[in-house]
Amino acid sequence: MKHLLIATMFLGCYSLTAQNYKLDKEYSAIEEQVIEWRRDFHQYPELSNREFKTAEKIATHLRSLGIEVETGVAKTGVVGVLKGNKPGKVIALRADIDALPVTERNDLPFKSTEVSEFLGQEVGVMHACGHDTHTAILMGVAEILSKNKDKIKGSVKFIFQPAEEGPPPGEEGGALLMVKEGVLKNPDVDAIFGLHINSQTPVGVIRYKSGGTMAAAQSFEIKVKGKQSHGSQPWAGVDPILISAKIIDGLQTIISREAQLTNEAAVITVGKINSGVRFNIIPETAEMIGTIRTLDYDMKDLINRRMKEMVPTIAKAYGGEATIEIKEATEITYNDPDLVTRMLPTLKRVAGENNVQTQKAVTGAEDFSYYQKEVPGFFFFLGGMTPGTKDSFPHHTPDFRIDEDGLLLGVKAMTELCLDFLNQ
Ligand SMILES: [Zn+2]
Ligand SMILES: [Zn+2]
Repeated sequence: MKHLLIATMFLGCYSLTAQNYKLDKEYSAIEEQVIEWRRDFHQYPELSNREFKTAEKIATHLRSLGIEVETGVAKTGVVGVLKGNKPGKVIALRADIDALPVTERNDLPFKSTEVSEFLGQEVGVMHACGHDTHTAILMGVAEILSKNKDKIKGSVKFIFQPAEEGPPPGEEGGALLMVKEGVLKNPDVDAIFGLHINSQTPVGVIRYKSGGTMAAAQSFEIKVKGKQSHGSQPWAGVDPILISAKIIDGLQTIISREAQLTNEAAVITVGKINSGVRFNIIPETAEMIGTIRTLDYDMKDLINRRMKEMVPTIAKAYGGEATIEIKEATEITYNDPDLVTRMLPTLKRVAGENNVQTQKAVTGAEDFSYYQKEVPGFFFFLGGMTPGTKDSFPHHTPDFRIDEDGLLLGVKAMTELCLDFLNQ
């Protein structure tokens, strides 16, 4: 009985603050505009680190709202700072703005027919990951918040980030460069929110995971040295192909025998082996490249350490030598568990209790992780699939499609996460 009473009191006070923003009219008023922006970005997509027109449109909009704007951050990024009427914390909201070298196959009035050059090849360009929706949603959030400064206790930093899909080879870019250029400083950001539209999650649904959500991606390169000999006389040489096979076998035992898979998933994949020229020659060397995916910092350390121990040791056991080099590609998209717990009521309020669902980890990677390495962050997935659809196409494909009915929930979620965080 007592518990019930307390629960009711909490509920009462919760719903009081919950309904206080009174933004419903503004949400419905902005929906059409958000869709219009999205269609424009969709029709004129730009590749990573080449988002010149996109950035200009964003900056123009933010300036028209009286938001302080910095352009050219991490090459083509746009950052806006909105100060509320009262002092307080600083929250960052992030949207990625780049498109992909994919030729669109959808029949839409705003279909992309843009072409560009990628690695010396002429390619079609398409918003095949839905970053056009992220950009439009955040522009909508900026408009609503800029007209409600009286509701903001603190400041909001709008981060429009280029090159999430990765800068072209040889160039820097994306979240890592934004962090390097100080996007989380001055004013110093206390926490960051980001979302990703999903073509296979129904409209109206938000999915999330606490802790490791998307994997850290690393690449590795292994060089094996043996001793060349005639294919008929293996005893006269050291076979680097055999050593490579033993190494691959050994690496997979790190996953299957050493990594505690009940904590999180982990993957080691050898994606390419290169060795030898002829059927009757045991070659001198072999090279392998591959990727490592991890969702937990300790597991990442363990896997990296054991790979470095195992590769030279296995080669030595068979009379050869081997080296391994591991390179960082993206960090773990790690949702701060305390922040998630704190902000879940907000998401449930805007989407409805049953529409906020937990999900399994994703072994794909996302560079939002670089912000989360610096400050607590929460990255979640927003439904973009027409409910009941059977043939929803995955991201990065020519048939990728988003149901625009899903966008408004993105605007509401980001706006209210921001307000609740600052006013809590
Ligand atoms: Zn993508
Ligand atoms: Zn994406």
